[in-house]
Amino acid sequence: METTKKDIRALTKEQLREFFVAQGDKDFRGNQVYEWLWNKGAHKFEDMTNISKETRLMLEDNFVINHIEVDQMQRSNDGTIKNAVRLHDGLIVESVLIPTKKRTTACVSSQVGCSLDCKFCATSRLKRMRNLNPDEIFDQVVAIDKQSRLYFNKPLTNIVFMGMGEPLMNYNNVLKAIDKITSPEGLGMSPKRIVVSTSGVPKMIKKMADDEVKFGLAVSLHSAIDEIRTSIMPFNATFPLADLREALEHWYAKTKNLITYEYVVWDGINDTKKDVEALIEFCRFAPSKVNLIEYNPIDDGEFQQADNAAIDMYISMLEANNITVTVRRSRGKDIDAACGQLANKS
Ligand code: SF4
Repeated sequence: METTKKDIRALTKEQLREFFVAQGDKDFRGNQVYEWLWNKGAHKFEDMTNISKETRLMLEDNFVINHIEVDQMQRSNDGTIKNAVRLHDGLIVESVLIPTKKRTTACVSSQVGCSLDCKFCATSRLKRMRNLNPDEIFDQVVAIDKQSRLYFNKPLTNIVFMGMGEPLMNYNNVLKAIDKITSPEGLGMSPKRIVVSTSGVPKMIKKMADDEVKFGLAVSLHSAIDEIRTSIMPFNATFPLADLREALEHWYAKTKNLITYEYVVWDGINDTKKDVEALIEFCRFAPSKVNLIEYNPIDDGEFQQADNAAIDMYISMLEANNITVTVRRSRGKDIDAACGQLANKS
């Protein structure tokens, strides 16, 4: 049912304190409610047991607590869990829990659909419907943290913004969500355990650097040759590699953080020596790490993972140029939870 009441979690702690003062109550009431919302995960005002019944009814009259529901959970043979998450307005996004021996990682979504149109990505086929609110991003992390404790007996250790959507196209809300995830009143996680993965929006990368964010950055590069990158990531025509590189130079100058590039090698697209040489050249300006990601075809089409010889060529040429390279195996392929496959098929 449509409601005109405001989502109480859109208020900052200060705004909540001011609200209570305006109601003739004490400002610390705002702190109590804030803690219920963000630390104790209350979904209903009636759960706030240290708040008087009268105050809870007053809150009910003025606000709603929008929260997500895990609509469907699928478990892969390799332990990966994919959640179809229903938002308060009925839209669905997906988030993934990826367990390894040492860590459990949440891969979360930042938009419903995506603003961009990468040809190899299932999400790009969904039009961007809206940005996620900070609480909707936060709630995905909380849900996965609970699953991590339940199924793997440990709290969530890492978060990557690599689910549906381009996080830098929803920058303010992503930042607010990370603020809640890292604050002691939220989950208290270290920002060093969070990576925002972008397709490369130069203006926003510079802004992140200027904002002195403490979390990590990964860039989905996939080609260091403009013509090829534009053919697979058409927005590269608007944000060409020279602009991306300039933004990353700014990022490195400010943060001194190593830059991670996500990179898939596709058969017949970027699997030649010339492609690797361009990548090496692109990486030269700052310490870099290249994650070669195993690709999962999203249809019978155009994009197929290159053979091992091409991957080996990448590895040996990158290593010979002192660029760290890792090969990341895909997880959760059998439930369409792997990179590039998130598209609400569940
Ligand atoms: S790869 Fe990322 S940025 Fe590109 S369309 Fe898919 S979700 Fe959007």
